[in-house]
Amino acid sequence: TENVPENGKNALFGKYEVGKLLGCGAFAKVYHARDVQTGQSVAVKVISKKKISAPGTGYLMSNIKREISIMRRLDHPHIVKLIEVLATKTKIYFVMEFVKGGELFAKVANGRFTEDRGVFHRDLKPENLLVDENGNLKVSDFGLSAMNDHIRHDGLLHTLCGTPAYVAPEILEKKGYDGARVDVWSCGVVLYVLNAGYLPFNDSNLMAMYKKIYNGEYRCPKWFSPDLKRFLSRLLETNPETRITVDEILKDPWFKKECYKELNFY
Ligand code: ADP
Ligand code: MG
Repeated sequence: TENVPENGKNALFGKYEVGKLLGCGAFAKVYHARDVQTGQSVAVKVISKKKISAPGTGYLMSNIKREISIMRRLDHPHIVKLIEVLATKTKIYFVMEFVKGGELFAKVANGRFTEDRGVFHRDLKPENLLVDENGNLKVSDFGLSAMNDHIRHDGLLHTLCGTPAYVAPEILEKKGYDGARVDVWSCGVVLYVLNAGYLPFNDSNLMAMYKKIYNGEYRCPKWFSPDLKRFLSRLLETNPETRITVDEILKDPWFKKECYKELNFY
């Protein structure tokens, strides 16, 4: 049966018993499910083929194929694992490792950064960072990610993507950008959100928000330590050329003090 119920009533999908809705995105719904043979808990991301092929969505079958190929290539304790991909005439199902704790969005925790393996996520935000029952962070949702092979002859990525509040200034400039550097910016926004409880660049008017991002206009709350302020100013550096790099992050005093003990995966 290809019917995954909207009401969370348990239905069988192949060998999976589908349970409650875990989360929704623009093109996907994610359900908890259980492998009836092994009892393993999984998360099933259901993407409607009709929705993604609707004109004007800017989201295509090629994006899904890329999401699958990138997820298949990644094998890391801090990246959500793809178990299998199933498809029917109307839907595509990503069967993934279930991450129990939910989104970082709902947590108060310190930020952490992913190792750069030539994959650029391009949509890093607390909704796409999941936390397991041990408090370990897992990066998910590679729907907008790119790999080294998507770089054009000028050595830059050109696709406009991401979520407005987390988007780097150079993406707004539409002149091409370095995928690793835009992820560093988004990490800066995430780190700010985790410590402040609100966004660094925000405005009810989208254009006004973009202007603030473009000019790097943000203010730190009183409770931010001087080290955190300094570190953030290096992540939220509007010029991508002078912005802190992943290698430099690992050597930063604030990062070392707050995060090194957690970096047992390096
Ligand atoms: P979209 O591409 O539509 O944004 P996501 O892959 O980000 O879809 O999934 C939407 C939401 O579903 C996430 O923000 C999260 O709340 C939940 N979710 C996704 N994957 C998992 C998972 N493996 N385990 C638990 N919850 C998940
Ligand atoms: Mg998402």
